Amino acid sequence: MSRNITSPTNKYCTGCGACSVNCPVGAIAIAENLDGFYEPMLDSSKCINCGACQKVCYKYQSTTELPQLTNKECFAIHSTNNDTHQSTTSGGFAYELSRWGVNNGYSIVGVIYDYTINKARTIIINDLANLESLKGSKYIQSYTEEAFKDIITQAKADIHNRFICIGTPCQIFGLRRLIDSNNIQNEFILVDLFCHGVPSYLVWDKYIKCQKDRLGQIKNVNFRCKENGWHQYSIKIIGKKKTYSNYAYNDIFYRYFFDNVVLNKSCYTCSLRKSSVASDIRIGDFLGGAYEDREDGISAAVAITEKGARIIEKLKSSKYINIVATHHVSECLKSQSTEDYPDIELRDNVITRLHERDIYQTKRWYIRQFTIKRQIYLRLKSIATLLPYKILITLRRIIRKGRK
Ligand SMILES: Cc1cc2nc3c(=O)[nH]c(=O)nc-3n(C[C@H](O)[C@H](O)[C@H](O)COP(=O)(O)OP(=O)(O)OC[C@H]3O[C@@H](n4cnc5c(N)ncnc54)[C@H](O)[C@@H]3O)c2cc1C
Ligand code: SF4
Ligand code: SF4
Ligand code: SF4
Repeated sequence: MSRNITSPTNKYCTGCGACSVNCPVGAIAIAENLDGFYEPMLDSSKCINCGACQKVCYKYQSTTELPQLTNKECFAIHSTNNDTHQSTTSGGFAYELSRWGVNNGYSIVGVIYDYTINKARTIIINDLANLESLKGSKYIQSYTEEAFKDIITQAKADIHNRFICIGTPCQIFGLRRLIDSNNIQNEFILVDLFCHGVPSYLVWDKYIKCQKDRLGQIKNVNFRCKENGWHQYSIKIIGKKKTYSNYAYNDIFYRYFFDNVVLNKSCYTCSLRKSSVASDIRIGDFLGGAYEDREDGISAAVAITEKGARIIEKLKSSKYINIVATHHVSECLKSQSTEDYPDIELRDNVITRLHERDIYQTKRWYIRQFTIKRQIYLRLKSIATLLPYKILITLRRIIRKGRK
């Protein structure tokens, strides 16, 4: 019987990379698959069937024994530094935690946008200057394998090494299993993100190529620019010749992302996204009613473990963050993606089409597969973004109040 990660289960691979790190003979390498997601590639001639990869893999574990999100407190947080608000995704919690970490001897494990290959990559940072590159969400899947191998090696080599690791819930789940199986828990603070899912590189690669043709060599990608306000998602890309900026609702990359037609298969039913948590702290955007008027961004932070609670308290007492208010977590969950996504069959068809057609043709095709009601709703939302910002915001508030 096969004890490696090719053994069938009812879960899909998340591409977290933990199996590769735990394989004692280097039989696994992480590479992009035909669907445009990172996935392990197994060299079966090297495999000794030891089962170490399955031991840390999400596909073979029950997640029900992990802490659940329900009945927790959720802090609404912003950085004490105004500059941090403008340059981070929500209230700057991740950046301030990382800054505190560097000042207190931690290495920070986070995600950069690698401009040489136009992909997201997990790296290790030890100094304040380079911490800037971790700021901001890159809404594409990050490659973790090398960084995860490095930190596990470093943590095993010296028990005094300390790491703060920030990533998607599936990446942090993989890390948690690696840490537990090596008994190096004391050296780590794990933080994961409320997570909508990750879209395929089949879309991002084609999208960024079109942008490069128009704008020149890509100098900066800001997936969540706050210049048009925080609630109204905007993307901004600076090229050598020109700059592009657009509301997410009118941007074709974001349409694919929000329409849930090209996410990783594991994202459609992901229990880690919805309820179970393997981290010490879960963070995200505090969207929805309570902070409707905040256009500078507010972070939501839920302490999952006592270690997580102590860290949040430490950041507050040493004035890295302000706690604006404390809510029941249900207040934050109202505007999070907590249900399964229904479009997995459509997703497979969209991925197939993307191999043959461009992103514009494929989008026109998939929109026609939606119900008429959904098509009208999307069209109206897109038209609404042409309105002046103040009118747009007022309109959104009226609609939200109407729904309540
Ligand atoms: C793919 C993805 C989906 C998300 N979906 C949601 C959601 O549905 N709801 C919600 O509330 N929040 C979501 N977030 C989180 C949110 O966008 C912010 O990242 C979070 O609120 C932290 O912002 P900040 O202001 O505290 O810190 P920032 O300084 O902006 O830090 C961002 C942090 O995210 C990490 N990061 C950036 N890109 C990636 C990536 N591709 N993979 C893993 N880690 C990354 C960085 O290392 C950094 O630590 C998502 C993030 C990602 C990457
Ligand atoms: S879920 Fe993670 S550990 Fe499991 S096979 Fe995929 S990459 Fe490997
Ligand atoms: S079973 Fe063992 S040798 Fe085979 S891929 Fe998994 S960890 Fe590597
Ligand atoms: S939705 Fe789940 S599987 Fe998908 S990126 Fe987020 S945590 Fe990973």
